[in-house]
Amino acid sequence: MFKKILIANRGEIALRVHRAAHDMGIKTVAVHSTADADAMHVRLADEAICIGPPSATDSYLNIPNIISAAEVAQADAIHPGYGFLSENARFAGIVEEHNIVWIGPSPDHIRQMGDKVEAKRTAAAIGLPLVPGSDGAVADAAEGIAVANKIGYPVLVKAASGGGGRGMKVVPDAASLGSLMAQAKAEAKAAFGDDTVYIEKYLSEPRHIEFQVFGDELGGAIHLGERDCSLQRRHQKMLEEAPSPALTPTQRAEMGEVVRAAVAKLKYRGAGTMEFLYEDGKFYFIEMNTRLQVEHPVTEAITGIDLVREQIRVAAGMPLSVTQDQIRFAGHAIECRINAEDPATFAPSPGRVIDYHAPGGPGVRVDSALYAGYRIPPHYDSLIAKLIVFGDDREQCRMRLKRALEEYVITGVKTTIPLHQALLDDPDFIAGDYSIKWLERWLAKRAEG
Ligand code: ADP
Repeated sequence: MFKKILIANRGEIALRVHRAAHDMGIKTVAVHSTADADAMHVRLADEAICIGPPSATDSYLNIPNIISAAEVAQADAIHPGYGFLSENARFAGIVEEHNIVWIGPSPDHIRQMGDKVEAKRTAAAIGLPLVPGSDGAVADAAEGIAVANKIGYPVLVKAASGGGGRGMKVVPDAASLGSLMAQAKAEAKAAFGDDTVYIEKYLSEPRHIEFQVFGDELGGAIHLGERDCSLQRRHQKMLEEAPSPALTPTQRAEMGEVVRAAVAKLKYRGAGTMEFLYEDGKFYFIEMNTRLQVEHPVTEAITGIDLVREQIRVAAGMPLSVTQDQIRFAGHAIECRINAEDPATFAPSPGRVIDYHAPGGPGVRVDSALYAGYRIPPHYDSLIAKLIVFGDDREQCRMRLKRALEEYVITGVKTTIPLHQALLDDPDFIAGDYSIKWLERWLAKRAEG
């Protein structure tokens, strides 16, 4: 097993990795920007190395500085967390070339799934159901119209290199296809340097349901059930739950087996997430994330499995600690993403945290790097805490979550806690009746008063 892991990230996820490592008796090296010198992950790690100025491009994305830090500290392995360099195949390759273990999937799998056109082709080959659409990239409007005529309007033009919902356009009819496709291409070119686009049937009210998967180098392949991440604003998830209120145990078991078999065929190593849209009882693959997800704790809560520990074990060449038959799903878990933002306008609210008191008690977990007196820097994303609550069933979980949110004290900055409180009391949420469109409609109604 590794003696020392470098954590190429910051904030709550850096702490999360640190905790898994220390639980296994492994030392940690934090890297940080000058803006994060006082951060919790820096304080708790065994060693800390400054890798650059505040801007992420110069620090958390600075490959030469991170590699040098790993060499200076003599780290055996690098864990990238999520975001930053976690899905950068080139970085993963460079890490391996330096004889440092990359705690993640092979650079080839990262590359394959990072290009969405190739990812869809691969998904079809390993038996996953796709959204009806073009067979690969679409070159021009004439080809686009031919595809759309076959699948029916509305259609969605999407960027092959897409991420965060950019380069995506809903096309209502043939008349607007040409201009909207040109806009999608221009947006994709500007954001990703690649104007390749493809077309999918636009689903009207789907849910976003994703499966957690894992593979090891000895042929082990498992799924850890699903997470429902339909509550999104601008394609950003706000609250996630497991299991999905929309699935029956039979649907879960059937789709879980499809996904598990796909991971086995892929010969995938490490943690991954297969994302699907789900409508009228059918699943449609949209993408695979080749890393740990922000919302992984809800899966940990209902399975009792430490996913970061599994990542570390698998990277060290060990088998997964469980087989599919040994996994037991129990209870219900919900995660609230708490951002330092104005709960009405979503304007970022960085600054000094004055009072800080985290909730506790049965079923409550807080993943956060906050503390009283900490200054939230303005340079990074606004996620400051994840509150994850477990209950025997969904209603117990919801009630505990309400109680935990009441206990949570964060002063000095604005947070989205009031939004979560209102959401948990909404009749549609209570009934589990929501699609990916629901949250934006709900927010628009609130804004009207
Ligand atoms: P990105 O990588 O840019 O986030 P995704 O393919 O993951 O792109 O899609 C992001 C979100 O866009 C999905 O979670 C869903 O809300 C919406 N979306 C994607 N594909 C479709 C589709 N075919 N029909 C309807 N909505 C879609």
